[in-house]
Amino acid sequence: MKEIYCKLLIIGAGPGGYVCAIRAGQLGIDTVIVEQARSGGTCLNVGCIPSKALIHAGDEFYKVRQMAAGRTPLGIRLQQPSLDLGETMAWKNGIVGRLNNGIAALLQKAKVKMLEGTAQFRDGKTVLVETETGAQIVRAENIVIATGSAPVELPDLPFGENVLSSAEVFSLNEVPESMAIVGGGYIGLELGTAFAKMGSRVTIVEATPQILPQYDADLVKPVAKRLGELDITVLTNAVARRYDATSSALVVSERDGKDITLDVDKVLVTVGRRPRTEGFGLEELGLDMAGRFIRIDERCRTSMRGVFAIGDITGEPMLAHRASAQGEMVADIIAGEKRMWDKRCIPTVCFTDPEIVSAGISPAEARAQGIEVAVGQFPFSASGRAMTTGDEAGFVRVVSRVDNHLILGIQAVGAGVSELSSTFSLAIEMGARLEDVAGTIHAHPTRGEAFQEASFKALGHGLHG
Ligand code: FAD
Ligand code: NAD
Repeated sequence: MKEIYCKLLIIGAGPGGYVCAIRAGQLGIDTVIVEQARSGGTCLNVGCIPSKALIHAGDEFYKVRQMAAGRTPLGIRLQQPSLDLGETMAWKNGIVGRLNNGIAALLQKAKVKMLEGTAQFRDGKTVLVETETGAQIVRAENIVIATGSAPVELPDLPFGENVLSSAEVFSLNEVPESMAIVGGGYIGLELGTAFAKMGSRVTIVEATPQILPQYDADLVKPVAKRLGELDITVLTNAVARRYDATSSALVVSERDGKDITLDVDKVLVTVGRRPRTEGFGLEELGLDMAGRFIRIDERCRTSMRGVFAIGDITGEPMLAHRASAQGEMVADIIAGEKRMWDKRCIPTVCFTDPEIVSAGISPAEARAQGIEVAVGQFPFSASGRAMTTGDEAGFVRVVSRVDNHLILGIQAVGAGVSELSSTFSLAIEMGARLEDVAGTIHAHPTRGEAFQEASFKALGHGLHG
């Protein structure tokens, strides 16, 4: 059996692992990365990128359908449009392929050795990799576990045939006539909206009283309104029980104990993700766990010396940019830099229609921490830019301390607000106060002006509302 020695071995080439590998290579660390599927992990292959491609395709198709139906104030008229999902998926696969190749090129440039195969722990310094050309032992001074997460399967709705996970949905070649989505969180709402815009009759089945329970009701309201406009049925306080593929019947229990039956071609189950901690010998290391996740400290160190963990396997929020930021930091630490996790916020974006962004804490969270806050909120209905792009739903909200005006949180809901998320996190990371944002010239006409206006409002003197 072949043996390799290296200073750093990374298991998993998702946004956590591959970023860690590139940075480590740049720092001259002798690095090996092992990946059992395709580089880019969940995010690139069956997550962030494919979902945003489908959301874009849905938006475009919906727009031309509205125009064909004469439902546009712009005076544009079209003939009957159609969508070939096979072609849409081929376009999406092209994007994923380009990015897969891009990662491989970046790893090569950084002189990182890539091993294709499944890594199996022998001990805290040794891993066995089953590759196509045979088994290989890798001995490493440091190991980074970046094995990510997988979709949660419901015992009564096992994946297969017409019950899809968020991975299989990206291989559909036809738009299902009807679709039930079990779980009204991030994936359910992003993809549910996309499929409705592509022509599916969509029903969302959510167990809690509110869709997107991770966001406050004010942020979710414009999204819920839009779902109604798209004829998406939303069942809250509802749990899917079983699906019979022969009769296309999905039985759903509602809060009052009543069972209803939905007639749907496909069921997409999006009830969360579980960390990938099983099947590769991790249990034998006996690492300290934090619930289902690997416990880490502020340097992403696990309870075993020389073993680090990053990304979804380390807990919430399970987001690509958190995984990458941890990966970049860990490479520096292994190179001997004095780094620790000191981020003030991790922005979250939900790519619904309209989009939701949150950076830092909400007014309710601040109050729960006993902080007296000044809140400023500016609606897009008062924004010239929002009017000219034809979508005035939503607002930007700024949460600051009353005593020194330090900005603690910024939330927004509205068309295209995902692009404001970096501005929001930059403001929080730099310790901006209301006066800093109000005193920064914001270009006109842009949606970003709403951030400045919300800051003026929190200061008690809004200019345009
Ligand atoms: P992963 O990306 O899961 O990568 C882990 C890798 O490890 C995988 O490639 C896997 O094959 C490999 N692996 C596992 N075990 C082994 C082993 N034993 N040997 C070798 N290789 C192994 N996040 C966002 O920030 N923005 C979004 O818009 C967004 N959209 C999403 C949409 C969907 C539909 C889904 C499912 C997720 C989305 N996410 C999004 C979440 C994001 O994909 C994850 O947070 C991110 O991929 C986590 O990165 P990671 O590196 O921790 O793990
Ligand atoms: P989620 O946690 O966002 O939503 C799951 C939803 O399912 C919740 O609302 C929950 O109440 C509901 N639920 C749970 N069990 C249920 C049941 N039996 N019946 C009905 N509803 C049930 O999880 P997700 O949508 O699967 O996404 C997983 C993770 O992936 C997210 O938490 C996020 O970290 C990441 N993600 C991020 C983005 C983004 O950043 N834009 C997009 C997609 C996914």
